[in-house]
Amino acid sequence: MSGIEQIMPGFWRIPVPLPGNPLKELNSYLIRGQDENLLIDTGFRIEPCRAAITEALTELGVRREETDILLTHLHSDHSGLAPELVGPERRIYVGRVDLPYLANSAVWKKDFGPRFLKMGFSEAEVGRRQTENPAQSMAPEDCDRYFPLDEEDTITCGPYTLRAIFTPGHTPGHLCFAMDEERILLTGDHVLFDITPNIATWRELPDALGSYLDSLEKMEAFAAYRALPGHRGGGGLGPADGGTEGTPRRAADRGAGRGPHRTGTYGL
Ligand SMILES: [Zn+2]
Repeated sequence: MSGIEQIMPGFWRIPVPLPGNPLKELNSYLIRGQDENLLIDTGFRIEPCRAAITEALTELGVRREETDILLTHLHSDHSGLAPELVGPERRIYVGRVDLPYLANSAVWKKDFGPRFLKMGFSEAEVGRRQTENPAQSMAPEDCDRYFPLDEEDTITCGPYTLRAIFTPGHTPGHLCFAMDEERILLTGDHVLFDITPNIATWRELPDALGSYLDSLEKMEAFAAYRALPGHRGGGGLGPADGGTEGTPRRAADRGAGRGPHRTGTYGL
């Protein structure tokens, strides 16, 4: 019972359960080429995620030796299993700015520890974050297989080409991926449909919410595209599918002295 959904020929959505997490499920996507595969996002480094995704990959006839991995961003519900699922000679592609957090987990301690203490958290709270927060405890093992991607870099697998769209905000190096021929945008956690992405504090983003809103404006170029998000169901990116407000317009919001309502945040 893997619940795999075929989206196009050679392109599937694999639901990966996130037990005990309000996000419920991660959408992993697989492209199967002639003798290479591309797996997009992976799930936490915990057994239920591992079991679901390995079962699905077996069902789809995917060989690990032929599999590269593409990550929309560094969060552990997307990256957790990447080092163990990538083929021995293959790459894990990820945005250049997110890469250091994955390659070396010490970056977290070094960066977040002192900043959180300065913000007023206690030593105990900062310590608990390192051990109990799934962002840390279910994160991937350190690994040297990462390969950095920049805006407009492309990756081709089988008949499909994915173009990186730099969308900082949810994480500092978040990438969406445009499949221009097919008019599909893999939105990662940048655009979700019935829940909202959380915006947190990052050393690289002095105004993370401002960066996020700027990145949302980039979505106007994809109004005719179908969005395939990292969690829950997808939809269209045009105003007709965007509710009464359509795509938020930052300048207009500021001018009117109000912003669109954003509620509900989860830690990933
Ligand atoms: Zn995320």
